[in-house]
Amino acid sequence: MMFPWMLLSLCFLTTCSSLRIVDLTHEQNHATIYWPGNPAYNFTILYRNGTNGGYWYESNSFATAEHGGTHVDSPAHFYQGGWRTQQIPMEKLVGKGVIVNVQAKASINHDYQVTVQDLTDWENSYGLIPDGAVVLMNSGWSDKYPDKNAVFNTTTPNDPSTFHFPGWHEDAVTWLSKNRKVNVIGVDTPSTDYGQSTTFPTHVVLGKNNIIGVENVGFLDSIPESGSTIFVAVVKLSDGSGGPARVFAMVDDNQCTSGSDAHFCHVNLHVLVSISLIVGLLTL
Ligand SMILES: [Zn+2]
Repeated sequence: MMFPWMLLSLCFLTTCSSLRIVDLTHEQNHATIYWPGNPAYNFTILYRNGTNGGYWYESNSFATAEHGGTHVDSPAHFYQGGWRTQQIPMEKLVGKGVIVNVQAKASINHDYQVTVQDLTDWENSYGLIPDGAVVLMNSGWSDKYPDKNAVFNTTTPNDPSTFHFPGWHEDAVTWLSKNRKVNVIGVDTPSTDYGQSTTFPTHVVLGKNNIIGVENVGFLDSIPESGSTIFVAVVKLSDGSGGPARVFAMVDDNQCTSGSDAHFCHVNLHVLVSISLIVGLLTL
């Protein structure tokens, strides 16, 4: 027999839990974007046909450089002695999503670099950047992928000196490394340093501080600027300086994220539990 309080509890459970899993990864294929100098993506069909055994069989071989498409930069990439890919502890590859939206600024200034002020603005809206956060720049660049000329913003995509796309200013990542405990810093562009960089200081700061980099992240408009949990599932490549990653987010659309909302949610939970208990007692 179903008591009303059971129904109420069930109702609470269903209305307060609507988890969405959002893929933030571009597909790996012949269009995958690499930095100039890397070998092209290779996908070879080894077998794709029926068999004498009466069953269908498919098997392929693929080859990719580490730094292509949606991928991780391991600390060893720009810092001697830093973790190589298989050495990155799993707990460093997941964290609360902090999405820094600079689309308006980047649409005017294609060489935009995320500033400390952008981080302060985020904190003023959503509270302190949480420990272990995955902090990602959303510049709006994901829409351009995989158009190479559009992503590198040049007509000569083999010449890095002509690249114009946004990234992180080294001051902002230095501030994060000193004042917050973040796991991952990433971008929706091909490099955590902006396109015009020649010395890659952001990459160096990340490596030196064992912060994982992630590049060419996609579809960041599909998740909230705060309140998600992001997973950076990089291939466990021995001695890698990075590697392709399946990046995805878990979003609870009913989750309360900011301080006042969290309080509201907490109060609501108490009210619901109290009502359930009272109704339960009355029906006994
Ligand atoms: Zn890379």
